[in-house]
Amino acid sequence: MAEINNFIKTIMEDDLKSGRVKEIITRFPPEPNAYLHIGHARAIITNFELAKAFNGYTNLRFDDTNPAKEDQEFVDGIIEDLKWLGYTPKNIYFGSDYFEATYEKAILLIKKGLAYVDDLSQEEMSKMRGTLTTPGVNSPCRDRSVEENLRLFEEMRAGKYKDGEKTLRAKIDMAHPNMNMRDPAMYRIMHINHHRQGNKWCIYPMYDFAHPLQDSFEGITHSLCSLEYDNHRILYDWFIEKCEMKNVPHQYEFGRLNINNTVMSKRYLKQLVDSKKVSGYDDPRMPTLCGLRRRGFTKDSIINFILGTGLSRVNSTVEFEELYDYLRDDLKLKALRPNAILNPLKVVITNYEDGKIEYLDCPNNQEVEDAGTHKIAFGRYLYIDRDDFIEVKPNKHWKRLAKDVEVRLMHAYFIKCNEVIKDENGEIVEIHCTYDKATKSGTGFNERKPNGNINFVEQTTAIKATFYKYSSLLLPSDDENKDFMERLNPNSITEYKGFVEPFIKDTKPGDHYQFVRMGYYVTDKDSTSDNLIFNETCPLKSSFKVSK
Ligand code: ATP
Ligand code: MG
Repeated sequence: MAEINNFIKTIMEDDLKSGRVKEIITRFPPEPNAYLHIGHARAIITNFELAKAFNGYTNLRFDDTNPAKEDQEFVDGIIEDLKWLGYTPKNIYFGSDYFEATYEKAILLIKKGLAYVDDLSQEEMSKMRGTLTTPGVNSPCRDRSVEENLRLFEEMRAGKYKDGEKTLRAKIDMAHPNMNMRDPAMYRIMHINHHRQGNKWCIYPMYDFAHPLQDSFEGITHSLCSLEYDNHRILYDWFIEKCEMKNVPHQYEFGRLNINNTVMSKRYLKQLVDSKKVSGYDDPRMPTLCGLRRRGFTKDSIINFILGTGLSRVNSTVEFEELYDYLRDDLKLKALRPNAILNPLKVVITNYEDGKIEYLDCPNNQEVEDAGTHKIAFGRYLYIDRDDFIEVKPNKHWKRLAKDVEVRLMHAYFIKCNEVIKDENGEIVEIHCTYDKATKSGTGFNERKPNGNINFVEQTTAIKATFYKYSSLLLPSDDENKDFMERLNPNSITEYKGFVEPFIKDTKPGDHYQFVRMGYYVTDKDSTSDNLIFNETCPLKSSFKVSK
């Protein structure tokens, strides 16, 4: 695996050298309101790999301070995704575990005259915040006495007020050039059931207030987040200072990872699931980690992809196909290479004895000597892929089978097609070929050159299987603002009913293969011994060039 190297690592080195910190402690703070996507993988890998590089550690902290959308299902899903990536958090915490301690700090700010209870509605508050060019206006509640604020805040907690009726705000500066500093909200009232706290609380801290305190409570040294929090850092530091926090974490921002024709906002992913446009969060077309896993991407391909695309202080957009190269790199030498025929065409070897089957040696992975061999069956009745046959050879570039043309069946014999059988609609249903015994693989036969090499499976021993190929869920669009649901690709999934050789009859969900000449595939989670199902992870090669 590549080593992590980026601007944050340099900062950490400097911080250790200067003595600002004694060790590196990071956290990954997802909101448990959906499954994680490949963008989150950047945050996870950055946090865990950086801490690991300095023998530090990383906490998983569920940012569950907004009870409206959170759910245990997502908590479990996130834990499973981290485990799959191979990262073990030192601690698993929930933001809501700090509600009492956070409340205490709010009281401290009120007592210091740095927070007040406001009666303004959300709308009035935002109207009075001013703009980037004009200062805001002080709320009429801004000068409430400490005693009154303490009483009102306690009443807020006690449930005396309705949602939105009161807000606790930090008292900073309504004319501050950074809008986030214009008396930001610290607590809002929400009478709603919390997935862990039940009805214990009806006031909930805002992210900007809760997050720095949580970082400090845990002794986080470097609080890494994506770029959109850039102009919140000043507020982060303000809360840390004014709340007199013992541990002083620092926030650093990195660019978000975007992928072409792939939408990664959780809201959109949820919309796809809820509208049943996909089979679930783990649909193999989804950019979620569970979707990518089901599609057959390995943890190493994802980690190397994230590390390989680098990290900077600007958002970056990469092509989804870049991930393919990392998958191929990972599996090229690891995956078994069985024969599969997705789109079968029946072949009869007319000069081969009926009822006879012979077993020929086939390497498990011809690029790896130690990978061993297995036997493939050869007989009178075979399947080849329809894409490997054309009735009339069109030109010299056609390096597959055609009528009156001879090809090599890989690891078996040369065969020549003599007759094409069609149904009443003119569809080819079967082809008749002859084989040449002298051309047996491994005998060193070199008197003629075949017109290409194709692969096959033997009909009577082959096992039925279903294959799925995927393409992007979204079609490209020049219009950035076009509704994603209108960009859905109607052909993002293609089903094939074909065969695999019995070599992999005991395949289990999650097994990876390189099907000879077909591509990388994984056994689907719904695959059973009576009903084999394979997902294409990516093709063998592509014309796409990685920009490195
Ligand atoms: P979304 O915008 O998809 O709803 P989010 O940022 O609200 O995602 P969180 O659960 O808050 O999701 O994210 C946890 C962490 O992952 C945050 O630190 C966030 O910055 C980071 N993260 C989310 N998406 C990306 C991305 N595309 N690239 C890099 N980091 C990301
Ligand atoms: Mg977020």
